[in-house]
Amino acid sequence: MALKHDWTKEEILDIYNKPFMDLLYEAASIHREHHDPNTVQVSTLLSIKTGGCPEDCGYCPQAARYHTDIEGNDLMSVNQVKAQALRAKASGSSRVCMGAAWRNVKDGEEFDNVLEMVRSINKLDMEVCCTLGMLTENQAARLAEAGLYAYNHNLDTSEDYYKEVISTRGFDDRVATIDNVRKTNVTVCSGGIIGMGESPADRAGMLVALATLNPQPESVPINALVPVEGTPMEEQEPVPIWDMIRMVATTRIVMPETQVRLSAGRTQMSREGQAMCFFAGANSIFAGDKLLTTPNPDVNEDMEMFKMLGLNPQKPFVKKSQPESVAAENSQFQSQNEKPKWSRPGHKIERNLEAQQKAKTKV
Ligand code: SF4
Repeated sequence: MALKHDWTKEEILDIYNKPFMDLLYEAASIHREHHDPNTVQVSTLLSIKTGGCPEDCGYCPQAARYHTDIEGNDLMSVNQVKAQALRAKASGSSRVCMGAAWRNVKDGEEFDNVLEMVRSINKLDMEVCCTLGMLTENQAARLAEAGLYAYNHNLDTSEDYYKEVISTRGFDDRVATIDNVRKTNVTVCSGGIIGMGESPADRAGMLVALATLNPQPESVPINALVPVEGTPMEEQEPVPIWDMIRMVATTRIVMPETQVRLSAGRTQMSREGQAMCFFAGANSIFAGDKLLTTPNPDVNEDMEMFKMLGLNPQKPFVKKSQPESVAAENSQFQSQNEKPKWSRPGHKIERNLEAQQKAKTKV
């Protein structure tokens, strides 16, 4: 059956608000039609450049303007990344996702190094994903040529609520980056965060933005906010597990073929809660004791949970074949030294400004 792409917010909100058992049953049934329910893809997220980010994302401890305890790091070397990727492979991950706290990719030595990292992980027969901020068409093509499997760029929340979270870059630019990735063979990973003070309608709004993309993203991470001291969202209440299960189930129903990733916030969830999420259609997790800068369950604990639930880690390249990786010297693409004009809405977000002010008085 052809996938539905004309979802409305009202339709998705109706699904989200269904009686819990009906929602779970429908989601689990759709999940079983499209996926092996006992297989879960395992990704390792590696922060290749941490902290010092110029953006003002209200949930993020890596934003330079807030005062948090995270230790910043310059870009890792290709050898360091390769060593970490080997470790991830040995512990059962099929994918390495490299995250850099950048507003956008800039052509130059650092990006060339990231391209080398992509080549070296591809050579290990692992899926390689990057999350590097906004991206031009040429940069997306260069990543694809190096052998990138997926590019992550989250929409974070609904277009309406986005204005309450970030003021330094626009929602449209996020969509434009996803469009640039779509012009290549690289798969799209895009999702968001719940628990930032948004309403169920905003959660549905985010899913509309994702589910009406054609094709829909191959991967959708659903994060529960991990409030970090010093960020504007430090006092947000934890997301109830029921909301997380509802969100996963709704995502599964509106995007049947997508891999739904249970991402940040798993340390606050019981195994029973996570099992319900897998039943509701989550079929991917991040492994490793850290998710960029926030805590995550230890990989051995996850493997124990998998054993208990009879889940198996997904092998790499099951959904799509391994991309070819072209060596730098044979590349068809040149750095264009582009200076794209990504937007900077610059509106006032009170809680972001307050956190920034607090940080100044702490220094
Ligand atoms: S979420 Fe990404 S872009 Fe936003 S502040 Fe954090 S590192 Fe920067």
